[in-house]
Amino acid sequence: MFSYWEQKNFFSYDLIVIGSGFTGLSTAINFKRKNPKSNVLVLEKGIFPTGASTKNAGFACFGSLTEILDDFWKMTPDEVTALVERRYKGLQQIRKNFGDATLRYQHTHGFELLEEENLSAVDQLGEVNKMLKKIFKKEVFTLVKKPEKMGFSDRVKVVVENHFEGELDPGAYLGALWNMASEMGIKILTGVAVVEVQKDEGIVLAENSGKNKVYEFKGKKVAICTNAFSKKLWPESALEPGRGLVLLSKPLTEKIPWKGSFHLDKGYVYFRKVDGRLLLGGARNKDFEKEKSLDFEINPEIRAHLKSLAAEVILPGKSIEWEMEWTGIMAFGPKKSPLIQPIGEKTAVAVRLGGMGVAIGWQVGKELSQLLSKM
Ligand SMILES: Cc1cc2nc3c(=O)[nH]c(=O)nc-3n(C[C@H](O)[C@H](O)[C@H](O)COP(=O)(O)OP(=O)(O)OC[C@H]3O[C@@H](n4cnc5c(N)ncnc54)[C@H](O)[C@@H]3O)c2cc1C
Repeated sequence: MFSYWEQKNFFSYDLIVIGSGFTGLSTAINFKRKNPKSNVLVLEKGIFPTGASTKNAGFACFGSLTEILDDFWKMTPDEVTALVERRYKGLQQIRKNFGDATLRYQHTHGFELLEEENLSAVDQLGEVNKMLKKIFKKEVFTLVKKPEKMGFSDRVKVVVENHFEGELDPGAYLGALWNMASEMGIKILTGVAVVEVQKDEGIVLAENSGKNKVYEFKGKKVAICTNAFSKKLWPESALEPGRGLVLLSKPLTEKIPWKGSFHLDKGYVYFRKVDGRLLLGGARNKDFEKEKSLDFEINPEIRAHLKSLAAEVILPGKSIEWEMEWTGIMAFGPKKSPLIQPIGEKTAVAVRLGGMGVAIGWQVGKELSQLLSKM
């Protein structure tokens, strides 16, 4: 039973955003910036964001050499260049809006380890640099001169350096978005799972965890930013979940002769140093079918594969003790670009961020907020 005051003040909004990951908070902030008098509510099912935004690896990246070459099989050169540009501009925007210190951003460059079977990528490095020159004005990719000094196994034949990538703390980034939203007067309710959206009416039905009671909120506009978890609210969506595993070691006792964010196996495997530990993740390509899951479980085969890569390729001959592991869920589809579109008279979505949400989440939220402002 609600009081007159509760009913009058807490249930109706100009905009209701569902999901408080990078996309949801960026949407709420950009909408409020454009419409300062608007009343904005964010509903989040976890006690804090529990999607990919707080589970990722913190790579501030836009694509390794082999990943970009792989994209040419599915996209035109213009589409590939546009995708890289969007990601790179996205990274620049978050650095400008929040500052490197807040994001704990380090411009340590991106690197890709090439084994024998990927060496043909080197032949196309010049061509890719030429194509990207209009965005970066300089060469993006160069070869590391003495890769053997990095201490990887001799399976690694070549290391390609990307001069425009870095790394950040995704929790710090999310925290900065959260603080900005709160300072702007955006209400964020956590522990509230949306169970239905009436898309033409702007009605949002939500459950308070464990209470078995449904609350009815009303928005003049509704934004669905639930990425991989959107099927329930938008059953027609063509979204495929893709689970990612991350392992974190105990502090490493030996000196590690490299820094930066590293990829191998066409970008499917990634690693970097975090607070003196090894963070290693990915390898979804070792079991694509099982990883199309919304369950936060760990696939033992992928875990074993990652651990053997650490011991045999990344830190051969060094002792590694593992301390933590977790999974997060991404959303993929037939195209790599995100879906930003209206799906009802009062409702629009921004989903399918793939594995690049750090780079594009802010821009995607901005584009959704512009779409909502026009609806
Ligand atoms: C293991 C892993 C590593 C990654 N590494 C990187 C990386 O290094 N660099 C990079 O750029 N990207 C990386 N990504 C991808 C990146 O994290 C995502 O693209 C990005 O976080 C997506 O943001 P989002 O806000 O769209 O979705 P999410 O972060 O998934 O947010 C969706 C939110 O909606 C909430 N929600 C869901 N359903 C409901 C509901 N019914 N009611 C209310 N709330 C709901 C969820 O709890 C969640 O908080 C990685 C992802 C994973 C899983």
